[in-house]
Formats: sequence, structure tokens, C-alpha cells
Amino acid sequence: MTKILSVNAGSSSLKFKLLEMPEETVISEGVIERIGSILDEDDNATIKYNGKKYSERLEFKNHESSIQYLLKKFTDFKIVNDFNDIKGVGHRVVAGGEWFNKSVVATPEVIEKIERLASYAPLHNPANAQGIKAFSKAMPNAIQVVVFDTAFHQTMPEENYLYGLPYEYYTKYGARKYGAHGTSHRYVASRAAEILNKPLDELKLITLHLGAGASITAIKNGKSIDTSMGFTPIAGLIMATRVGDVDVSLVDYIKEKEELDDEQMMNVLNNKSGLIGISTISTDMRDLLEVEQTNHHAKLAINMFVDRVAKYVSQYIMELEGVDAIIFTAGIGENSSPIREKIMNKFNYLGLKVDKENNAKRGEEVQLSTDDSSFKALLIPTNEELAIARDVVNLMEKD
Ligand code: AMP
Repeated sequence: MTKILSVNAGSSSLKFKLLEMPEETVISEGVIERIGSILDEDDNATIKYNGKKYSERLEFKNHESSIQYLLKKFTDFKIVNDFNDIKGVGHRVVAGGEWFNKSVVATPEVIEKIERLASYAPLHNPANAQGIKAFSKAMPNAIQVVVFDTAFHQTMPEENYLYGLPYEYYTKYGARKYGAHGTSHRYVASRAAEILNKPLDELKLITLHLGAGASITAIKNGKSIDTSMGFTPIAGLIMATRVGDVDVSLVDYIKEKEELDDEQMMNVLNNKSGLIGISTISTDMRDLLEVEQTNHHAKLAINMFVDRVAKYVSQYIMELEGVDAIIFTAGIGENSSPIREKIMNKFNYLGLKVDKENNAKRGEEVQLSTDDSSFKALLIPTNEELAIARDVVNLMEKD
């Protein structure tokens, strides 16, 4: 029995899950928010354990102080006897560039590379690196492992990861598609192989990670061959607040018309577009579905979201030369029967039929397609924290 901590350090937050491995049971989970910023009236630290939920409002100057707090709470609440009981920490890191195609132990060289990749993920990579350093300092006896969002997509062929830009921008600046959500796509693909009872390296899968951030991946024989996110996670699908694919000429055109500087324009593309931009009412798919029948903008946002998903799936069926299963996961994919049904219905013409009873379910593994469908549709809840903890255990065994 080994306790492993999975960590996701955002620019101002720290999400965690403490797991018992290899049993894969969750001992505690929670989040610390508003690190380094001015507090409002709400609680900003929440820890769940033993069926209890503890939360309080506290000021954290930086990630280091939030980690000290967390480790103290682990011992105070007797979640662990001593934080040395935690043998490994796995860190989610957004951008690994071309340097990392798998999870690695966090050596000083690895941390330095994560910092050097900050221009690929300016909000995330510096915070990720800070989290790794702070945990390394607080828990010098635990192995620190880095799990990259981009690593799974390093198998894409160059035809798929290059843009139609001058080639020298790729060699000089690494201007290419890196993708994201790799840990989630990898996890649900391997679960799909288990459920389908077939080796992963004989399957053609399309994984649909549809959450606030959303991406789709084509997986051939267990390897990512194409994905909808690009150089950064802004590309591809229409998302809660992100624009997805857009004609680049429009960026300058709107900047000029609206008299925006670069930062303001990026803010529009990252935070004011997508579902909120089109619907004008909400970033949350639940709110849009509630008023779909009466609000044209909500209906339009839903239709555009569904259409964009279906177009990527169609393209990937072509790239894979067929498909064995499409897999729905993440917030919308796991919970929204109407959105899943709308997407699946786009493929009726290819022989996919919805099992309505199963599609009414949420948050559990289930087959969404009827048995006589030409390919399968599955619902598989993602579990990035578990995938991270498994990588930590694998690297501990090698160490
Ligand atoms: P995630 O980023 O994976 O945590 O997903 C968060 C998103 O899932 C939210 O922004 C919602 O739009 C969506 N979501 C969660 N539950 C539902 C639901 N029951 N129906 C539709 N969308 C949902």
C-alpha cells in the first residue's frame, strides 16, 4: 500500500487527490483557490476525507504556503500519520513541447525545461513549475513525477502537427500543434480497450473530451495521430469561453475595429468567445440547454458546438479509415444526455444508433450505442488523477 498525491497547480489554485495505490482508492481530495490574490467572502480551501468536508477562508501568499497548509491538514485530520507516508507526488504540467513524450521524474533539468516552455503556456507552466519546486522542498523524500498534457500527442505524424506556415518557424520556434488533455484521452482510450475486450493496439478510437475546455483525439493502435487543440489549447472546438478555430485575419480586423491591444484581444479569444460569446447568457451548457427552446442565441451556441464536434469526428473517421468506438468524457460528455444524443445523431447515416435508455445515464461507464450499430459509442468518465498516480507508481518501480 502506497499513498500517492496527484496535483494540479493552476496559476492561482491547487487541486489535489490523495490515492491509495495500487488499490486506486481516493483517501482525500480538494482544492485551494485564490492563492496570491485578494480574498472575497467565500471559503477558498476545501478538503474532503472520510465522507467529511472541511472548508475555510484563508490567505495564501504563494503555492508554497498553500502546500504547507495542506500537508499540516493531512496530519491534523489523521489522513496520514506523517506526511512522509506519501511516497510520491504526480504533477500535471500543461506544456511539454517536443522535449517530453512521456511522464518523467522531476529533476532540476526537467523543471528548468518546464520553465523554458512558459511561452507555450504562459499562465500554466510557471505555476506548474512552482508547484513542483514547493512540493520537492516540503517533501524531499517523496518521488516527484511530471505528467504532461501534451506528451500523449507526440506520436502525431508531421503532416498532422505542422501548420501551413513557413517550415523554418517550426525549426526555429517550435511552431506546431502540440494538443492537450493528453492524460484524459490516454486514460479513456485504455479503459475503452478493456471494456471492448480488445488490445488497444488493434483499435481505431475517437475520444471526445467535452468539458469547459474541449478537445477530440484520433487514436490509432493506441497512439494519438491527430487532435483538435493546437499550438495552445485555444484551437479546435468551440469551448465554454474559448473561440476554437478561427480565421486568423479576423484577429487583426477586430483588434483594429474595437481598438484592442494584444492582451485585450487574447482575452476576447480565450475568455469571451465560444458558448458565452455566441449565447451571450452563459458559459455553462446546462444553462443553454434549459432555454434552448425559447432563446435563439442559446440554441445557436448549442448547434455550433455540436456541429463542430461532429465535423472533427467525421474528419478523424476519414483519417483513421474507419472507427471502432467514439468515447464521450469530461463535464459535458459525462453528464449531458441531450448533447451526446445530438452528436451521435449526426452519425445515424453511418449506422450509429443511440440506446436511449443507456444514454439517459450519467457519470458511469456505459455503452451509448445499440448493439446493432456499425460502431460503438461509449461513455467513460475520465480520471486524470488516477492516470497520474499510475504513472508515479510506474516510475517509482523503475527508480
Ligand atoms: P469540466 O471542464 O470537464 O469540469 O466540465 C465542466 C462543464 O461541464 C461545465 O461548464 C458545464 O458546461 C458542463 N456540464 C456539467 N454537467 C452538465 C450537465 N448535466 N449538462 C450539461 N453540461 C454539463
